[in-house]
Amino acid sequence: MVSRADGRAGGPLIGVLALQGDFEAHARMLRRLGTEVREVRVPEDLRGLAGLVLPGGESTVMMLGIEREGLAEPLRELAAAGMPMLGTCAGMIVLDREHLGILDIRARRNAFGRQTRSFEADLEIAGLGAEGLLRAVFIRAPWVEDRGPDVEVLASIDGHPVAVRQDRIVAVAFHPELGDEPRLHERLVADAAAPRERAA
Ligand code: GLN
Repeated sequence: MVSRADGRAGGPLIGVLALQGDFEAHARMLRRLGTEVREVRVPEDLRGLAGLVLPGGESTVMMLGIEREGLAEPLRELAAAGMPMLGTCAGMIVLDREHLGILDIRARRNAFGRQTRSFEADLEIAGLGAEGLLRAVFIRAPWVEDRGPDVEVLASIDGHPVAVRQDRIVAVAFHPELGDEPRLHERLVADAAAPRERAA
């Protein structure tokens, strides 16, 4: 695992979609892990990336920006080509069937209720190599209302999936970039550094 305190970039180049939302917190987290980070605003920014974060924020505004900048099709192509991605909160919504259509899920916006349902929970995330519980911050979070057969549920709250994986794309309903929880970002960096597995 790439994890260095000296701040020198050495890991794979990871993009953070920076049209709207809390992209700076993701970029800080990734730099802390010693990886190179590029903010993505236009399709040219995607060139040479090994992985991508879609941050939390406001999915409607983010989606408008994606359409405006012509990013939707390039993002779909990169996902189809096997680029590891991590979508968080609004990023989960943007990845779903009704938006980019990259994940075979339907996310329900503000599923826990609006402002009043911001909360923290300790989650056990399956299959991410994360030992122990993960402190998850939920802010007007979605959950996964419906999913296809290729989608693996990594964690749920009250029976509602809040962390899912499909191939090399992970989407979580919470904000791992807030606070001190680097393990999902570490996993993204590790996936980005790993050679792509060929689909059978
Ligand atoms: N409620 C927001 C939306 O629907 C997501 C909130 C978040 O990303 N923290 O887009």
